[in-house]
Amino acid sequence: MKCPFCGNDDTRVIDSRPADDNTSIRRRRLCDSCKKRFTTYEKVETIPLVVIKKDDSREQYDRSKIEAGVLRACHKRPVSINQINQLVDEVETELFNREEKEIPTSLIGEVVMDKLKDLEAVAYVRFASVYREFKDVNTFMNELKKILDR
Ligand SMILES: [Zn+2]
Repeated sequence: MKCPFCGNDDTRVIDSRPADDNTSIRRRRLCDSCKKRFTTYEKVETIPLVVIKKDDSREQYDRSKIEAGVLRACHKRPVSINQINQLVDEVETELFNREEKEIPTSLIGEVVMDKLKDLEAVAYVRFASVYREFKDVNTFMNELKKILDR
């Protein structure tokens, strides 16, 4: 970032915080050459994560879809909304940390299952049955048994 006072290229960020509108970052910068300080506002880039669906079509990543899936799986189970939000947060962090632009739904499903497994057994099996498309009740029971045996 060029210094607006002397045109020098070497400026340092000395402080960053979200601006009041929360869609930009306010940075205080210091010019190494003339030692003057100035403020910049930078737009927060929304991460353009794309989800690859089973039929190979693509759609924009949508947190609410994961939430809806987890909510459905946790129906009438002793799981609070807070726990669900936290789980989705963890899933999201894991997905974004992969730093890939495209992520298959199957992978999202695996990450969700991994977290649900530790949270609630029945919700996990319900979710898994949707994601792995259990063909019959035996597959479902085997999966449930694996969990209960641990
Ligand atoms: Zn300067």
